[in-house]
Amino acid sequence: MSTLFSLFSNDLAIDLGTANTLVYAKGRGVVVSEPSIVAINKVTNQVEAIGHEAKEMLGRTPPNIAAIRPLKDGAIANFDVAEKMLQHFIRQAHNGKSWIGPRVVIGVPSEITQVERRAVEDSAYRARASEVYLVESEVAAAIGADIPITEPGSNMVVDVGGGTTDIAVISLDGIVYSNSLHVAGNAMDNAVIDYIKQKHNLLIGERTAESVKIEIGSACKLNERLHRDVRGRDLVAGVPKTIRISDKEIREALTDSVAAIVKAVKVALEETPAEVSADFVERGIVLTGGGALLKGFDKLLATETGMPVTIPEDPLASVVLGTGKMLSDFNLLRRVQWQNSLSQAA
Ligand code: ADP
Ligand code: MG
Repeated sequence: MSTLFSLFSNDLAIDLGTANTLVYAKGRGVVVSEPSIVAINKVTNQVEAIGHEAKEMLGRTPPNIAAIRPLKDGAIANFDVAEKMLQHFIRQAHNGKSWIGPRVVIGVPSEITQVERRAVEDSAYRARASEVYLVESEVAAAIGADIPITEPGSNMVVDVGGGTTDIAVISLDGIVYSNSLHVAGNAMDNAVIDYIKQKHNLLIGERTAESVKIEIGSACKLNERLHRDVRGRDLVAGVPKTIRISDKEIREALTDSVAAIVKAVKVALEETPAEVSADFVERGIVLTGGGALLKGFDKLLATETGMPVTIPEDPLASVVLGTGKMLSDFNLLRRVQWQNSLSQAA
């Protein structure tokens, strides 16, 4: 029994996201939560840093170092780097301790190609996993958000990540509708950069833009006014400069991105049969992923769609918590798997 236990306690669940990778270890919870970024030395081709450390280098990398997001836009932009990153996080989850062929469940967006699925699977096997299960991240997010997807009825999940927003309607038959758009957190950051460039002639970096968005960004008018100092390079004088930005300005900057996501949700609702959307009225649309934390986003989406909108307790962790639950519920895993192969055949 104890050998069996120690064997299985190696099991890992992974959310391979475009912005963040999270790893859940059975019995220990979330053990890794790091940006999906790899810093590569362009001269030697060696990996210089992965995760937080690599993100720190973003924007201020010396010319010979490139900070790569291997999963940009929901697709695997760089297989080799993606594999190095995945294996690094698996090792980190095991804390350098030796481990014997764990089972690994990985959440990947339902929209990724067969070739990409295969690449993720092979990478995990090369990292010495004994069994690898790929599950659709939308389904994992629903399970992680405690949506009863094994009960009759339909649920809508809107996962606003870094590279993509994934919208899915999930019923007992699996994913019955899905759409993925390339408008999510990164697009919002770029919108903040463009806005400040155009309106204030100030060039700011990606990390600054993201922190401005997180601190004072919003989708609808806030009860209190927020301000923040932003440092960048003045495009006219070419010197460093600091300006003060308000929540109103950032809301304006984010309007198009937010509107695009709201529109895609409306399209999904339109394409859903009436009896199905009746379930949404009762259960609410689940808004998850890091983008769900944009202030007022749930309120705006509820107003625009006329549906209740709920955000899970930890929207950044929904997918990994869902895959984590599958580690200890093999029936659930098999069920989600089976639905996977069905939707692949369709
Ligand atoms: P992915 O699944 O693609 O890796 P995540 O679900 O981890 O993405 O979400 C990452 C995105 O969420 C990033 O673009 C990040 O800037 C954004 N984000 C995180 N926290 C907040 C917040 N409080 N407000 C707005 N956006 C946020
Ligand atoms: Mg995600």
